[in-house]
Amino acid sequence: GRRRLIAGNWKMNLDHFEALTLVQKLDWALRDAKVDLDAVEVAVLPPFTDIRSVQTLVQGDKLALSYGAQDLSAHDSGAYTGEVSGQFLRRLGCEYVLVGHSERREHHGEDDALVRSKILAAVRHELAPVLCVGEGLESRQSGDHVAVVLAQLDAALEGLGADDVPGLVLAYEPVWAIGTGETAGPEEAGEMATALRGRLETLLGAPAAQATRILYGGSVKAESVAEIVAVPDVDGALVGGASLDPAGFASLITAA
Ligand code: 13P
Repeated sequence: GRRRLIAGNWKMNLDHFEALTLVQKLDWALRDAKVDLDAVEVAVLPPFTDIRSVQTLVQGDKLALSYGAQDLSAHDSGAYTGEVSGQFLRRLGCEYVLVGHSERREHHGEDDALVRSKILAAVRHELAPVLCVGEGLESRQSGDHVAVVLAQLDAALEGLGADDVPGLVLAYEPVWAIGTGETAGPEEAGEMATALRGRLETLLGAPAAQATRILYGGSVKAESVAEIVAVPDVDGALVGGASLDPAGFASLITAA
């Protein structure tokens, strides 16, 4: 079976010093709650400037947490001012990197072709890409949400096979549910997760489709996580706001 994954996307919150506190408190809270970390993997995705601090704690104290970044460059090195290479992230022990988060697509002009390049950059540096897809409110209302999201998946994986994207994780994050307090219900999340797994089978073959974890994201809270992760094709959650408080995030993980 697929190991459940609960990942905290801190977005542009918490500096490197606050990151140390959060990770320590999260680790204490998870130990205290005796969370079975073999059954559920917990990951944090801090800002770039925090990653060294997180690495020091996680590796130095052998914490049972994974970590990664929220973005990476499509390039490996060179004259790309302000960009961060996947190579650097890997050297800091990152396992995961978000690719194509709706906030990158919306505010930083990331299109499907760039998202695809970033997936390949992640894989080149042995990072597992967490590909984010999700429809806006208009497509949800007009009923073409499944087609829109599958088109994002098709474009991101165009021309790629299972061997090109080892470790791929998908995150279905309906844009209308991000930071709004609105969440997709289990039925809506399940409809999309099942459609995504079906399309993965077409694109990458059945074994890869079965192995790929599909997360739901969008206003996931401790109160709502259980019913979401109980959905058959949903393998975990990508949590924004509710991952910023260590005790709260630990209770969300406990509830999952
Ligand atoms: P919220 O949980 O704050 O809605 O954020 C979801 C998200 O975008 C995670 O990547």
